Amino acid sequence: MKELEIAITLSTDKKEKPSSDGLEFGKHFTDHMFIWDYTEGIGWSDPRIVPYQRIELDPAATVFHYGQTVFEGLKAYVTKDEQVLLFRPDQNMKRMNKSNNRLCMPAIDEELALSALKQLIAIDRDWIPTAEGTSLYIRPFMIATEPYLGVAPSKKYTFMIILSPVGAYYKEGINPVKIAVESEYVRAVAGGTGDAKTAGNYAASLKASEIASQHGYSQVLWLDGKENQYIEEVGSMNIFFKINGEVVTPSLNGSILEGITRKSIIELLKYWNVPVSERKISIQEIEQYYRDGQLEEAFGTGTAAVISPVGELFWKNERLLINNGEIGALSQKLYDTLTGIQTGTKPDPFGWTLKL
Ligand SMILES: *Cc1c(COP(=O)(O)O)cnc(C)c1O
Repeated sequence: MKELEIAITLSTDKKEKPSSDGLEFGKHFTDHMFIWDYTEGIGWSDPRIVPYQRIELDPAATVFHYGQTVFEGLKAYVTKDEQVLLFRPDQNMKRMNKSNNRLCMPAIDEELALSALKQLIAIDRDWIPTAEGTSLYIRPFMIATEPYLGVAPSKKYTFMIILSPVGAYYKEGINPVKIAVESEYVRAVAGGTGDAKTAGNYAASLKASEIASQHGYSQVLWLDGKENQYIEEVGSMNIFFKINGEVVTPSLNGSILEGITRKSIIELLKYWNVPVSERKISIQEIEQYYRDGQLEEAFGTGTAAVISPVGELFWKNERLLINNGEIGALSQKLYDTLTGIQTGTKPDPFGWTLKL
């Protein structure tokens, strides 16, 4: 494993840590951050860990105008015996480069970026909360910084990592969420940027989420942008359905984000010999399974929420109640197993966790 040589400036003014109960998602940041600059023709330079602080950018920086930016999200946990565990961080670095490539942004050296991430967490280790359901959320991201108003890939970039102690992503916690099927707006289309973790996808999704939220729904379920009938994913989660004993999730079609939790759930189900398939599935099909009493469970998967059971789908002015609005047995088992592996309370037969 390669190590990145980093200039470190420690903070002399340590912040107060938030209490771990009622810890809100993404509101608090640790004492330090990592920064790495890129200039075309020179490459990556000046990797540094500095006190968490504001950054200065030219108002003409490309990121503000044409949205050249990508991000990642992963978590660190402390085990009972004080070890720090990261969950499949290599997968995040790999996906970041896939997103970078789609947005014409420079690749990072995945091992060196991981080395930076590990060094930053080691410095802010005391910030990893230990209460049940809490963790340290890690946000690596890259922005285009060249001051230039022409539409072209920037010649300068900054890669940063910030850390945030977090509790449950949804206020519901592991309790089922209510989701509205979106039939007017679309999130992405095949050939677009739906399979890249880039800001524009999220900006484009806010309108539908806002309307759903006004009607009491936590998120929307997106349908495909072409025929408006095939299920894609939910806000920041991939979606799974348990139908008549089989688990089904939409296949990766270029407009769905390739979730690492999604991939892990599929691997876990296969390991347990639970039938699982990745295929095209329409909302009409889901509705039919519901009417036939075969729609047994539904859940979303993502780093932030891990597993989020879906208790209700709102579709064509009708509420489809799933498993009586309660968490299903398989969803619960997947949640317990995955969080057990992540926090080191359950064996990790796949070698998914990385010790700091
Ligand atoms: C990040 C993200 C997911 C979940 O991916 P994980 O790697 O499991 O965290 C799903 N959908 C979208 C749109 C996302 O941004």
